[in-house]
Amino acid sequence: MPDLTLAAHRRYMLNQQRILHDTNLSPELKIVALILRRCVDLSEPFPKPAHIATLLYPDRAVGSAYRLYQQLMIKDIRRYDPYVPGFRHACQEMLPKAKRPCGRSVSGLTAYVTDVETGERHFMGWCTKHAGIGAVVVAQNRADMLDRIIPRPCANTGGALRVHLPELDWNEYWHRIDPNWEPFPERDAPAEVTAPTLRLVHEEAPAATTAARASHPARGRRLHVVRGADDD
Ligand SMILES: [Zn+2]
Repeated sequence: MPDLTLAAHRRYMLNQQRILHDTNLSPELKIVALILRRCVDLSEPFPKPAHIATLLYPDRAVGSAYRLYQQLMIKDIRRYDPYVPGFRHACQEMLPKAKRPCGRSVSGLTAYVTDVETGERHFMGWCTKHAGIGAVVVAQNRADMLDRIIPRPCANTGGALRVHLPELDWNEYWHRIDPNWEPFPERDAPAEVTAPTLRLVHEEAPAATTAARASHPARGRRLHVVRGADDD
């Protein structure tokens, strides 16, 4: 029906705009999101993962492009990461008289200190002069952790694709590409919870030669998307 097709195109155009303006998506993830969103909105067949990979990395050989694609998807797994990027490589011990942080190089001691209330880990550092104070803080933190159950920290990174493709069963997909992965709690529950109806599949790629797969078994793996929760 023409009006349904028009509605589908309109929906895709709106979703396209949201993807293009999302600053949480890298240029590569934007391409992946646009490809998958188009397939969902316009009911088009999903391309093979190797095809997506060569679109993303046209200057690379197929195998190399595919590995980069895998890494891209792995990097977008929803997870918690300690806040290392915000860490200042200067001793933060307050100087009582000067009423400012010490500011020397953290050459004395660096360690993760866990917030026992949230489970979040913070990277901290002290200069040589204040390393003893740091050691006490770290030891106290370890002791505090022994007496209680530390909550699993809320996710704070990854999952940028899921925002634009809630139809896909990302939890299942992420668990497949990282068997040790378990869902992290979310600080803010999503406004709309939609049950996923599509799934991403992770399987062996037939392209690599037997010898190449024997020497590099991980290289033959590939990712793709199928419709229907029970497909495989
Ligand atoms: Zn210091």
